[in-house]
Amino acid sequence: MTSTHFSDLAAILRHADAVIADPQMLERLSKDFYWYSPILKALLEDKRAEAVVQPRSREDIQNVLRYCFDQGIPVTVRGSGTGNYGQAIPLEGGVVIDLALMDRILAIEPSGVAVCEPGARLITIENEARKVGWELRCYPSTYVKASVGGFLGGGSGGIGSITYGGLRDNQTVQGIEVLTMEPEPRFVRFDGDAVHQILHSWGTNGLITEVRLALGPKRDWAQLAVAFDAYDAAYTFAENIANDTVTPKRLVTVFEWPIPSYFAPIQRFCPLGQSLIFFLVENSALPEVVRKAALAGGTIVYSQPYTEPRKGPLLTDYTWNHTTLWALKTDPALTYLQCGFNPETARQQFRLIRARFGEDFLFHIEFVKNDRGLIIPAALPIVRFKDEEYLNEMIDYCREIGVTVANPHVNQVEGGGRFRSDNIQLRAKYQFDPRGLLNPGKMATFSPEDTTAGKVTDRA
Ligand SMILES: Cc1cc2nc3c(=O)[nH]c(=O)nc-3n(C[C@H](O)[C@H](O)[C@H](O)COP(=O)(O)OP(=O)(O)OC[C@H]3O[C@@H](n4cnc5c(N)ncnc54)[C@H](O)[C@@H]3O)c2cc1C
Repeated sequence: MTSTHFSDLAAILRHADAVIADPQMLERLSKDFYWYSPILKALLEDKRAEAVVQPRSREDIQNVLRYCFDQGIPVTVRGSGTGNYGQAIPLEGGVVIDLALMDRILAIEPSGVAVCEPGARLITIENEARKVGWELRCYPSTYVKASVGGFLGGGSGGIGSITYGGLRDNQTVQGIEVLTMEPEPRFVRFDGDAVHQILHSWGTNGLITEVRLALGPKRDWAQLAVAFDAYDAAYTFAENIANDTVTPKRLVTVFEWPIPSYFAPIQRFCPLGQSLIFFLVENSALPEVVRKAALAGGTIVYSQPYTEPRKGPLLTDYTWNHTTLWALKTDPALTYLQCGFNPETARQQFRLIRARFGEDFLFHIEFVKNDRGLIIPAALPIVRFKDEEYLNEMIDYCREIGVTVANPHVNQVEGGGRFRSDNIQLRAKYQFDPRGLLNPGKMATFSPEDTTAGKVTDRA
């Protein structure tokens, strides 16, 4: 980019401060949590934007896209940069559009739908929704920082998915408005199933400018941690609670020892050598879950009925992909995978993996509801990284024994297990970003020379 590009962008945004060129800021605003993966770390370390712009309105974004299209400048959109596959890292320089200033909640509709700008933080939506009797259906453990646009663009689910499924399920995303990357960028609305053209596309096929997110009725959530001598017993108890239909719940997480030993700030709740379960259950159900846990041989190491504001540790800070963060802080040679065990044969799958990889593969289970309403032991196992070959051996072996793997060590949408086999994200890319200027390089099946959606062959 040239100095003319910088002054043009400042003029378009009517503010010199809206265009960032400071090298340290460029570095910071070009990066996410890609370093979770030793493979992505090596691949993406030197990638950064040439400029970061901070628009304040839909019209600002439209004007920036029009200009960048005309000048052939690549554009990568950023929410809060907490993605961990390098989704928001620009591979070909150009402009990063940081949506931090477009963070308004436009409405919480009485029917339980939040209407938001893309930069709205999930915690703000949760807090505002709770004031009027609603709450997020599901959210990532990064919800304090993460934006709703980034969650739709690069996330998958989290706390709440045990009841509501993933972000893409149950019409949780009711509608989105997207800006296209064309000579004259257009606002296009997607409602109902049409949203799947855009969801989890890493900002490669349109820039989300507004979100309509279905909420769930607010509940008062109690926190509970239960320790068991053996992982098998912990898994069985967690599985029972995950599957029962009487306990309203938001979180059922199992950690095999020594994973709890990584949770430095809450060591007092992590007995040596024991596996742990973390629950969020409805306040009124807490006494019954405590009673059942004791009957099953568990020790209650932490039990906190609902309080607002919450005091003491927030258990979700140790779940989902936060678990990996604590592991990495303890031992940088650790990394993770994203797996789905078979609910029928999970125990056998655990045994086979243990026999093959020993303690290089540690079980961290997050029970979730799948799109058919079944409770599944999803997992973010902590694995020891020796080299890429060993990591691939783990992935191949998991698949061989029926454990699904969404590989988090790839930097293309197609590699991560969330790319639609019906090609609708790719078709949308041809339609809305024909020159391939949005987050270039991240949708590998797209080729800018092949500019008609009709040429997209079904790979399913
Ligand atoms: C410690 C830790 C824990 C995590 N736990 C979870 C978890 O429980 N569940 C989960 O799903 N994820 C999890 N993640 C990943 C990540 O935090 C979430 O997916 C989060 O929702 C991303 O939001 P963000 O605003 O940071 O997005 P970013 O990282 O800024 O962006 C993510 C992707 O979306 C694109 N994007 C951003 N805004 C838009 C937009 N307006 N239009 C189109 N595309 C856009 C970006 O280009 C990028 O490709 C975790 C990550 C970390 C580091």
